[in-house]
Amino acid sequence: MRKLLTVLALALLLGAAGVRADGNREVYFSCAAGEGKKIALTFDDGPHPVYTKEILEILEEYGIRATFFVIGVNAERWPELVREELAAGHEIGNHTYAHANLQKETYETVRGEILNAEEILTDCTARRPHLLRPPGGLYCDAVGKAAEELDYTVILWSVDPRDWAHTAVEEIVENVLTNTDSGDILLFHDYVSGQSPTPEALRRILPVLIERGYEFVTVSELLGGTVETDS
Ligand SMILES: [Zn+2]
Repeated sequence: MRKLLTVLALALLLGAAGVRADGNREVYFSCAAGEGKKIALTFDDGPHPVYTKEILEILEEYGIRATFFVIGVNAERWPELVREELAAGHEIGNHTYAHANLQKETYETVRGEILNAEEILTDCTARRPHLLRPPGGLYCDAVGKAAEELDYTVILWSVDPRDWAHTAVEEIVENVLTNTDSGDILLFHDYVSGQSPTPEALRRILPVLIERGYEFVTVSELLGGTVETDS
């Protein structure tokens, strides 16, 4: 609940997507998609040997590219899965090293969490990530300052079907199909502890969104390619 309130408060504070937060950093909840009906699927907390594999298969089946916000410790354990994501055309973002609540950490710790994950991701993909999603969407001044200093764009989301809370598949499907509009950034997880509802929900959601004419792009593409993706 606290997470939702924080994100909601931040959304109200910042207003529309892409509004500048503190300093020069921008925090994106969604993005005016311009021409066409574009949306970005994002997957947090992986990689995971079961769910990431399954989700990659589903995305391949539908010819969809997405953005994975990877946790450093998981990338350290399963680097081949991160390389598999990249090889399939997906984008890799930084989700910190140990998924800490950055609102409770000092600036130095926040910076270290981002840099440690960056080092692992750069080692395993030969590319430096430029997108940052703070765990739980818990944005604060330290995150904004570190993002500015380390050259990251902060990405939150506009549609959260709460798969992380083991929401029933039917409810996830209804939430996404009711609330998704062009320019939205959708939050999913390729790791949920215990039984994940995400793969089954995706199997039901994706064909409907395709039928509705949506094009699935990476977050950087949704932002208009303004975010540098190479090292
Ligand atoms: Zn997370």
